[in-house]
Amino acid sequence: MASVGESFRPAGFPQTATPTGLVGRVLGLNPGLMTGPGTNTYLVGEREPILIDTGAGVPDYPPLLQDYLVKRGWKRPARIILTHRHIDHMGGVPQLRELFSAIPVSKMIFRDQNLPGPIENLREGETVRGEGVTLIPVHTPGHASDHLCYYLAEEQALFTGDLILGGSTTVIPPDDGDLGDYMASLRKLQTLRVTRIYPAHGPVIEDAPAKIQEYIEHRLMRDRQILEALGDGLRTIPEMVARIYADVSPALHGAAALSVQSHLVKFRKEGKVREEPAPGQPSHWTLV
Ligand SMILES: [Zn+2]
Repeated sequence: MASVGESFRPAGFPQTATPTGLVGRVLGLNPGLMTGPGTNTYLVGEREPILIDTGAGVPDYPPLLQDYLVKRGWKRPARIILTHRHIDHMGGVPQLRELFSAIPVSKMIFRDQNLPGPIENLREGETVRGEGVTLIPVHTPGHASDHLCYYLAEEQALFTGDLILGGSTTVIPPDDGDLGDYMASLRKLQTLRVTRIYPAHGPVIEDAPAKIQEYIEHRLMRDRQILEALGDGLRTIPEMVARIYADVSPALHGAAALSVQSHLVKFRKEGKVREEPAPGQPSHWTLV
């Protein structure tokens, strides 16, 4: 699960790319409403690269990855590191284990269930070294509680997973997401020296500080719109979606409802709104 917003034409987004000498990209071949052109998997390093994320487990992905490895003169990735547990990032682990025997897989293990086989725990600041590259995990919950970004010191670049995306906004899932955490994670990124962003979905972002600021302002704008709607007497999420997302295709209103909910839950935790559950109906929300 990743994103909602403008849709990509997968045909316009190459399946593989080599943005820099240290970073290669292979698409997970899982395009969709929530994944844009599909999940970007990144090969980082001068040789025996580190693979960040594995796509969803699409059968055509391993051959595409192998073609790209051959093109670069590489045999296999040294290891796999994951940004978070969502299926479109972790789903390819079993097929890659078949292809690359005994390949180590790491992620931040936090509230995990049903991990695919043995996975090493990776914590914030535990540096991952490859050939000519240094990757530093940064814990960035909000989209998922186990979410890590990876800071590539040699490029002052950040692999942002689903925290920041190329061309759309991130979904905050109600089960494991938390908009308050998400905002804190965005502000944490502002304390790093980041120039370029490699998102898990969509194209490379060259002006990282502007994009991070844009993401923060977008959420603050939604905050204001929702508080205004509550002030005007709107009570339920469907009513608020109908007003705030009036110019957005109804096909996206389900995702929009999740977004509004994430803001209301944040307000509730901040003591700004009250939720009155109504059995079989949408909850009533009111300003405190
Ligand atoms: Zn995700």
